[in-house]
Amino acid sequence: MTDFTMEKGADGVAVVTWDTVSKSMNVMSMEAWPDLEALVDDALADDAVKGIVITSGKEGSFAGGMDLNVIAKMKESAGDNPAKGLFDGLMGAHAILRKIERAGMDPKTNKGGKPIAAALPGTALGIGLEIPLACHRIFCADNPKAKIGLPEIMVGIFPGMGGTTRLTRKMGAMAASPFLLEGKLSDPKKAKAAGLIDEVVEDPLAAAKEWVLSEPKFVKPWDEKGYKMPGGAPYHPAGFMTFVGASAMVNGKTQGAFPAAKALLSAVYEGALVPFDTALKIEARWFTNILMNPSSSAMIRSLFINKEALEKGANRPEAPDQKVKKVGVIGAGMMGAGIALVSALAGIQVVLIDSTQEAADKGKSYTTAYMDKGISRKKATPEKKEAVLGLINATIDYAALEGCDLIVEAVFEDVGVKAEVTKKVQAVVGPDCIFATNTSTLPITELAKASNDAEKFIGIHFFSPVDKMLLVEIIKGKETGDVAVAKALDYVRQIRKTPIVVNDERFFYANRCIIPYINEGIRMVKEGVEPALIENAAKLLGMPLGPLQLVDETSVDLGVKIAKATKAAMGDAYPDGEVDEVLFWMFDQERLGRKSNAGFYGYDEKGKRTGLWEGLAAQYPVVDDQPDLHTVQHRLMFAQVLEAVRALEEGVLEDIREGDVGAILGWGFAPWSGGPFSWLDIIGAPYAAERCDQLTAEFGPRFTTPALLREMAEKGQEFYKRFAAEKAA
Ligand code: NAD
Repeated sequence: MTDFTMEKGADGVAVVTWDTVSKSMNVMSMEAWPDLEALVDDALADDAVKGIVITSGKEGSFAGGMDLNVIAKMKESAGDNPAKGLFDGLMGAHAILRKIERAGMDPKTNKGGKPIAAALPGTALGIGLEIPLACHRIFCADNPKAKIGLPEIMVGIFPGMGGTTRLTRKMGAMAASPFLLEGKLSDPKKAKAAGLIDEVVEDPLAAAKEWVLSEPKFVKPWDEKGYKMPGGAPYHPAGFMTFVGASAMVNGKTQGAFPAAKALLSAVYEGALVPFDTALKIEARWFTNILMNPSSSAMIRSLFINKEALEKGANRPEAPDQKVKKVGVIGAGMMGAGIALVSALAGIQVVLIDSTQEAADKGKSYTTAYMDKGISRKKATPEKKEAVLGLINATIDYAALEGCDLIVEAVFEDVGVKAEVTKKVQAVVGPDCIFATNTSTLPITELAKASNDAEKFIGIHFFSPVDKMLLVEIIKGKETGDVAVAKALDYVRQIRKTPIVVNDERFFYANRCIIPYINEGIRMVKEGVEPALIENAAKLLGMPLGPLQLVDETSVDLGVKIAKATKAAMGDAYPDGEVDEVLFWMFDQERLGRKSNAGFYGYDEKGKRTGLWEGLAAQYPVVDDQPDLHTVQHRLMFAQVLEAVRALEEGVLEDIREGDVGAILGWGFAPWSGGPFSWLDIIGAPYAAERCDQLTAEFGPRFTTPALLREMAEKGQEFYKRFAAEKAA
């Protein structure tokens, strides 16, 4: 069975219909390309055919793009010389699209040939837009839900089937840049206004047919003599400014840590200097370069394939549907207010409780403010606002919790307060209600002791700000049962976030890894490492925030609180005395971070960072002999990654996919790497173990090679090979 079929009408129009077997949206596979080519060949050769329309058999969409599962494996399946195999494969696809674009015209005179239009019922993404871009005119249905664009950059690649070259030539580099560099998606009307597509109509198939029969002029501008790129090519004075600006912007945003953005820009710049067919070749070379870079397959694996698998319940235990109908949120502070908001946005009825009506109302007003902002940005309507607010009952009355099937507790981080709340809740709700705590530091198993049914007690750990952060960490206590896990997973799915499920150990997974990163940064301050070197080393690794900025954002007093509690729990084994010295000193100086407008950074009266605080050097002088960048980076990187490996060794993590996806979504771990385990696979276990030995010798036992990593180094194993095999077994 083939994904493309063709019907030749009596009117002289051949309609090629794309309908990927057994998928709700079309995706391109390697096998489908020759089918498409054969149909185009047939139609071009048939004298009875006057024009061709390419459309989709799916309602409301043209295509979702290339099958990313295929892209992730392209390198492996490209033969002994993968770079050549990939390049040849890409050029093969280019030849087919170029055949559509040239459509049988005489190469010299541009005479003859047949017009080819694309008729899109809706969404057209990635290759699903690159094929239409090769056609002569793009008609799209007036479908406001449809998304049009080239999102490849979001998963570490770039449009490599002519989309980069065609869009730049169609729109000009400046206008194309948000679509190429940021993966911006638009609805059909906005896509037309921007010049991405040509027409928005009621019936795209009818309009496309009419157009191809109207004897239109259809040669592409870049195939005509005297073509000039809109906005100017790189050597044109206007174009020159575009490229200087774009290059600065890309480097500013990515710090050079994302290879795809750089490759894309190179393909655009170099392609703009040469004729079209050479530009396609350049695009294919850069795309090959990106596919050969392990970063692209690691990013696709974590940010697309595994993220989606976790969202669809890859680790959900067998249990009947646990969709939440009514949730009780206890504590209407920063976290509770956000949890109420995201629940109501998902259509769930919410009871939001605090100890005073004023506090409960304040929590609800967070949703009011959120919806008002949405209305001012035209993303929400007053009706939607009323509907969402109507779902939230802000009260102090625990009786209102009756009928709740899930409770999320977000009161003060205090065992006593939490225990009291647990008891009060359980006096009202039914025996099937699942009780979740949003604690970030207290052991779930301990908190469950206040509950009359530890099987129904679980951790659902949100990150702040709740409405922006995509990850939710679900924590199983020792006695947590399957139904509670299923409930938590079904709830996270309802509110459209990504879950990971971990076991109950100090700081669970995300905080366990991020704290050593912060601490390593502070430790270096104590040693006299230049703070700018610490911060920039982190940024150049692709971390969204340097460790010192992260302390400022999360606040020094929170750090002090966590340090004191951890020390109390660990006693003599506590390893971070050096860190605490700096942290407690900052606390004494009342430099608490952003919230006090003073921290490791200085801030102006509007709260804008003005640079690293110069006063730090008086207390912790910068030493003359500074470490090299690579050493600073490896300290910051291994501090996090080794903690991830230990979490796996100890069984806190049960699935390395969760370790990688959780790291990127939870604390922004260098996304280009695909996550801590992917990073270790990229550098290889033998080198990682050797590097740990060196770091241990130089900086101390916190870098000791975990036994698992040592064993893998000796056996030459990779995490994704070893643990995928173990999972399958
Ligand atoms: P917060 O101080 O902003 O809010 C706590 C709220 O709970 C307050 O409004 C308080 O009035 C209310 N409260 C206290 N005792 C109560 C009681 N007995 N009954 C009803 N309401 C009561 O704190 P927060 O930052 O929202 O944190 C709440 C929980 O979430 C904590 O367990 C914290 O560890 C956890 N958490 C916080 C973050 C974060 O970044 N702030 C992230 C993840 C988890």
